Amino acid sequence: MSAASRRPAGDARAEEAVRDELSAAGDLAEGTKENYRGWAARFAAWCELNGLVAFPADDETAQLFLHAHYPRWRYSYAKAFPAALRAEHRRQSLSVPVLEGCTEYLRRLSRDAATAPEQEKVAALRVQEADTIGRALATLQPQDPRVIRVRAVVVVSALLGLPLLDLPARAFDAPDLLWAERLPAAAMPVSDSEVRLSPPGGEAVIVDAQRHPVEYAVLRAALAQAADPAHPLAGPPGESRRLTSQAAARAGLLQQGAGLLAALSPSDLHFLLANVDEHYQRRVRDWAYVLAGVFTACRHDELSRFMLDRVDETAHGYGVWVDRVKNHPEGHDYEVQHVEDPLTCTHPLCPACALRTHRHVVRRAHGRTTGPVFATRYGGQWRVMTRQNGRRVVKGLWERAGLPGEARVATRALRAGGITSASEGGWEVWQIAEELSFHQDVNVCEVYVRRLDPFSHEFFLPV
Ligand SMILES: [Zn+2]
Repeated sequence: MSAASRRPAGDARAEEAVRDELSAAGDLAEGTKENYRGWAARFAAWCELNGLVAFPADDETAQLFLHAHYPRWRYSYAKAFPAALRAEHRRQSLSVPVLEGCTEYLRRLSRDAATAPEQEKVAALRVQEADTIGRALATLQPQDPRVIRVRAVVVVSALLGLPLLDLPARAFDAPDLLWAERLPAAAMPVSDSEVRLSPPGGEAVIVDAQRHPVEYAVLRAALAQAADPAHPLAGPPGESRRLTSQAAARAGLLQQGAGLLAALSPSDLHFLLANVDEHYQRRVRDWAYVLAGVFTACRHDELSRFMLDRVDETAHGYGVWVDRVKNHPEGHDYEVQHVEDPLTCTHPLCPACALRTHRHVVRRAHGRTTGPVFATRYGGQWRVMTRQNGRRVVKGLWERAGLPGEARVATRALRAGGITSASEGGWEVWQIAEELSFHQDVNVCEVYVRRLDPFSHEFFLPV
């Protein structure tokens, strides 16, 4: 039995009263209005089929309608029906019916064990689960040995000025040309503090672990996994060039043309290296989506309305203006804030840092400055990420991180997670409803607080 149906009837009535008030004031969210219209249409169609008068509705007809669908309609599904009927009467300028019998019927239905059990609640993806996912992402990538090797080829080619992209494919068979794949292990000794690159006949280049941590890490990883110990960077002919070209295209760097590698700035080089992994951009998007969802306790519907040209940098992170969403018909400014001091923040779970990286990718790689922040590309266009897509993202990360496989995971897990984390962090439910989740009804907000983990004190949601 769920918390919702355990609630005393008085609370359910209070919730209904709130809905009625909102409905009377014409202040319902678009989704709720649509739901109400659906109920009114179903009721009218059923009445017509049974030779009954739908409007103005009669309390007994309303009960008959509900009972005709027993036991298929459970309480949580049918509970909106009386409010929907009343709203429809207001819409048609009819006098609003008293539906006491209908309400009593629903009350009994809420205690009825014969109706289908309520669907299991969506799991909460709290800060703890985000942390598990973040760690999994960090240790799992990149798994592809080709990515590790080609990244090193790119680094060596860039640092030593060796040809890679600006060479026709057939030239790769020419024995007199030097490129990174041909460097012997002896030309790349590695220690804990540096890699010394010594091309035959050329000047040595030191890659210092402190000063060039990315390049050093790339080389170290490739040298450690080398399949051919004599020629650690050797791979199938043409593969490095092909993967690098694809990476440059994905990174939006192709327009720079021949001589690409030598001309790259350090930050462009790093961006190219990241994009050698074809899943890099998607991972950045998914991570930003998850963290933004948890830390703002957003619905997918809200996240999908984050627009690039409505994202502004603030003193604390980012402000994202969304024109019209559920509970905020006049629009709302979502705050995606840094977990630590904005000037120095590098916290692995920071939603603002994740959003910044994602914005950078979108701007650099897609050349996008307008349209949805969280987008999927299909049909040759960047489109709003659908709910199914969002669900796949959340579920995919959940499973990859080895979180409980039996849990029901959907986009709502982010909102439930944010609210539960806030509660675990010591927020009162009313405070969460008012400042984080923007629930009009505290009872609804409370349903989102999944459970309290006594060992969760080290995780928190910054106010
Ligand atoms: Zn940050």
